[in-house]
Amino acid sequence: MESTEKALVLKVGRFREVDAWVRLFSPRKGIFTAFAFGGSVSRRRFLGCLDPFNVVNFKVKHEAAKGYTYLLEGSLMAAHPRLRQDVERLGMAVNCIKFLEAAHLGATGSEHAFDLLMETLDALEQAEQPSRLLPLFFRARMAFDQGFKPELSHCARCGADVALQGGAQLFVEQGKLHCGDCRQWGHGASVRLSSPSLDVLQAVCELSPLQWAGLAVSNQARMECGRALDLFVEYHLGLTWDHGSFRRI
Ligand SMILES: [Zn+2]
Repeated sequence: MESTEKALVLKVGRFREVDAWVRLFSPRKGIFTAFAFGGSVSRRRFLGCLDPFNVVNFKVKHEAAKGYTYLLEGSLMAAHPRLRQDVERLGMAVNCIKFLEAAHLGATGSEHAFDLLMETLDALEQAEQPSRLLPLFFRARMAFDQGFKPELSHCARCGADVALQGGAQLFVEQGKLHCGDCRQWGHGASVRLSSPSLDVLQAVCELSPLQWAGLAVSNQARMECGRALDLFVEYHLGLTWDHGSFRRI
């Protein structure tokens, strides 16, 4: 069966001199691996396509009996040249992709995750000085988009406006905020989020990645958000950062 698939190239490996395997992420199929025979030499069929962070329209053939997917040809739609040349941008982009690969829950929801990743890569590519917090914001938005977003403005128990109290306690397992008066009623691991941190998380949910660069984030908010998100991702997605990659726990 043949189809056309728009996909982001995540990784390319060569084998048998002229052949390649390509790890791809598409809004329709999620993450998958396909073979490109003659991929290393065929300039005609894969001109400039087989490099990480390229967005390519591939003609794809799936052989259900063997369970293999083959790339027949590709046309380049977008590239991210600065990402590949600038070590700092590259590191942040790789971090986002590692998280996506670890957290990704299959084809369902891929369309949304694809759009978010593309916007994040565009922000990393285009910004004159990309915020070092982009990978953190990407993880937060991915986790929140998968249905784990806590209500960030009111106490889950009494409904008090937590901004008026200067912040609240986030109970990680229930994904709920409790105000100071209701703090004793929460269970399990929790972290304090001051008002500026709650504002940052709210903005990360509402704004696009291109707008994240403009967010002012204090050191305290960065530490609070980072700590909350690590616990959140560990509990809800079962992932922890370990020696340069995300590991299932
Ligand atoms: Zn309360």
